Amino acid sequence: MNIFSLKGKRALVTGGGTGIGLGISKAFIEAGAEVVITGRREEVLQDAFKELGENARYSVFDITNKKEIPAFIRDLETQFGAIDILVNNAGIHLKKFSNETTDEEFESIIQTNLLSVFSLTRECAKYMAQRKSGVILFIGSMAGIFGIDRVSAYGTSKAALTGLMQNLVTEYSKDLIRVNTIAPGWIESPMFLNAINADLARKEKITNRIAMPSYGKPADIGHAAVFLSSEAARYITGVVLPVDGGASVNF
Ligand code: NDP
Repeated sequence: MNIFSLKGKRALVTGGGTGIGLGISKAFIEAGAEVVITGRREEVLQDAFKELGENARYSVFDITNKKEIPAFIRDLETQFGAIDILVNNAGIHLKKFSNETTDEEFESIIQTNLLSVFSLTRECAKYMAQRKSGVILFIGSMAGIFGIDRVSAYGTSKAALTGLMQNLVTEYSKDLIRVNTIAPGWIESPMFLNAINADLARKEKITNRIAMPSYGKPADIGHAAVFLSSEAARYITGVVLPVDGGASVNF
């Protein structure tokens, strides 16, 4: 038996049509899993679906639509099958000084990056608890570990995920549901590359911060996600795993 394999497992990857989520979905399928990807844009999901092949499905769903989350998860469980792994990857970013950030903008970041993650996790965990098995991954950020200028709302949402994870571990472990967080460093998703190439001063600052000589790739997060979801990580829960080329220790 290959303890790193995900053969026979089913995963839901939010935001799985682009960037890091697509990297995670590809790595899961390579490891033998079936994957459902979600996002708001059908055309993006269709393109990703073509890339991922027959072990993927897609479902258009806005994770901020909180009233619909219980039915969304119930329908997936009944039509697709048991969700063994939930990857809360979908997220939005806001780059503004805190004194320029409106209450509405702050709330919107918290809604998508934290409250929707809570609702999706709660609904999936209900089914996982019945099966006494499950894996939940949060996608955090360096901005949830240390201060970075102009991301106060985003950094707050990502830091709060760590608190949520720690508390869920105390409740979920008895049902053999593991909850872990991957904290990506600077990863070459289309969103990141567009932002960084438009701000050369920031690009230089970030490049100097990373100990290794390059940005990360979505596949780097995907491979960490496969490990944390596999039997090889059966006794790992409640950790924040930086995948950042040494950025978080390179002061
Ligand atoms: P992308 O913008 O490519 O990915 C975000 C994904 O989330 C998109 O597929 C988007 O799809 C989806 N999404 C956003 N809002 C919603 C919503 N309301 N409902 C459903 N889906 C939604 O960026 P990345 O791949 O870079 O980011 C993925 C995750 O990684 C995020 O949580 C981000 O915070 C985190 N991260 C990224 C880093 C990086 O360097 N790239 C560094 C650290 C963390 P759609 O717009 O179609 O809904």
